[in-house]
Amino acid sequence: MKPIIGITMTTNNGQYCINEAYVKSIIQAGGIPVNIPFGVEIDADQLLDGVDGLLLTGGVDVHPHFFDEEPHLKIGHIMLERDEIELVLTEAALKKNLPIFGICRGIQLLNVALGGTLYQDINAQYENEAILHQQNARRREASHFIEITKGSLLHEIVGKEKVAVNSFHHQALKKVPDVFEVTAKASDGIIEAIEMKDYPYCVGVQWHPEEMAIADDEHSKNLFKSFIDACKNQVEVEAKVIRT
Ligand code: MN
Repeated sequence: MKPIIGITMTTNNGQYCINEAYVKSIIQAGGIPVNIPFGVEIDADQLLDGVDGLLLTGGVDVHPHFFDEEPHLKIGHIMLERDEIELVLTEAALKKNLPIFGICRGIQLLNVALGGTLYQDINAQYENEAILHQQNARRREASHFIEITKGSLLHEIVGKEKVAVNSFHHQALKKVPDVFEVTAKASDGIIEAIEMKDYPYCVGVQWHPEEMAIADDEHSKNLFKSFIDACKNQVEVEAKVIRT
């Protein structure tokens, strides 16, 4: 059985939309994608009974009220209704031990959901000198290196301590709650990946592996495969529950 993956969406001019790369990379890794809307009434609990994993996608900035700050002058677009449903979905998914994969905004949402904070704008707020995290290159092309923590799940997945990734973010993780381990950083110290300790699979990355995976990048494909494998385990656990 292929695992069913719930994928969050964004809106544009009254239309729900999703970058094709998220959907294609899930299919490429062996999952069945379903898109989850927001701004409408959803029973997150019941919805998640029907999926085997949750993919939190990229997009606009998380509302700073969710980490007790007022908006900085350099904050970008925010969508309160999207934050609300994604926070509810994350909480409900964690209760069900569902695998969660957060990409770009997704890693930020995960961090905030568990009590962390963000740099609302790296250039305005980061204490050190930052490298370029909003690349002027095609989405599938890598632009900066990340250093991966030895012994982490990410290290196991990627199999290397240093890889090049793409980068399209002006925000970054600031305070990271203890439930997470920071598993990758850029050379300027900006956090690029986290994973939840003592949890089946909850990984967040600041880059966009979906764009690189569909362009055949090996470490990005491995990342999606690891997520789908974790979701397959979820299907097997459910099957056991139904059988007993
Ligand atoms: Mn970056």
